Amino acid sequence: MSALQRQKITAAAEEFIELGEQRVSYTLRRSPRRRSIALLIDERGLRVAAPLAAPQQAIDSLLREHAAWVLRKVGDWQQKRPPPRNWTAGEQIMFIGQPLSLVMRSGIEAPQIDGDCLLVGPPALAPKAVETRVRNWLKRQALDLYTQRCADFSMQLGLPAPAVRLSSALTRWGSCHSSGRISINWRLIQGPQAWIDYVAAHEVAHLRQMNHSPAFWRTVGTLVADYAERRTALRRESQRYLLL
Ligand SMILES: [Zn+2]
Repeated sequence: MSALQRQKITAAAEEFIELGEQRVSYTLRRSPRRRSIALLIDERGLRVAAPLAAPQQAIDSLLREHAAWVLRKVGDWQQKRPPPRNWTAGEQIMFIGQPLSLVMRSGIEAPQIDGDCLLVGPPALAPKAVETRVRNWLKRQALDLYTQRCADFSMQLGLPAPAVRLSSALTRWGSCHSSGRISINWRLIQGPQAWIDYVAAHEVAHLRQMNHSPAFWRTVGTLVADYAERRTALRRESQRYLLL
């Protein structure tokens, strides 16, 4: 089988099913490697993975059999998912754990905070341009804050301030390169300071230990004593911040 053929076969298709009163859409991905049908629900919605030859009827009956679970989980995720953004006045932006309300104002060049508002201008700016300005502003704030926090933690360990970059990986919040360069996801600037500090401390601790040994975690613990709680909260609650 050529790579292209395989790609076609495993390509995802948008499907839907009526479950009780509700029409539920899902992504169906068939793969030659799968031996059974699997259901997965997360922030991307309902996904079904199935063997190439699985009859649609088998997929339908599995979905019906688990209808209550599917509807509950899909509903849970829809509540967690922020509404689609339109990048106009009133839009809420999270910044270091605090909600900021977007306000369009004339005479504003670069976005700026005013109380619990983020001022963006000029008022005639198209939503797409508002989005770009806000994202760029968030990235600038993120780089400043991460650089500062990594420098603080490095100093506590008696190390020179590391080079810090922004990443936009959708799967991880931070990483530390063997060269000593630290990357932290710019989207983390939406989360609370406690999370930002945990990720910065974690990556700085890698400058001492390039592994996740007990010695590594002891180092993290000297920087952020309650790192375990923060790590759990980050894993449990941070998904929605990846969607900006
Ligand atoms: Zn690590």
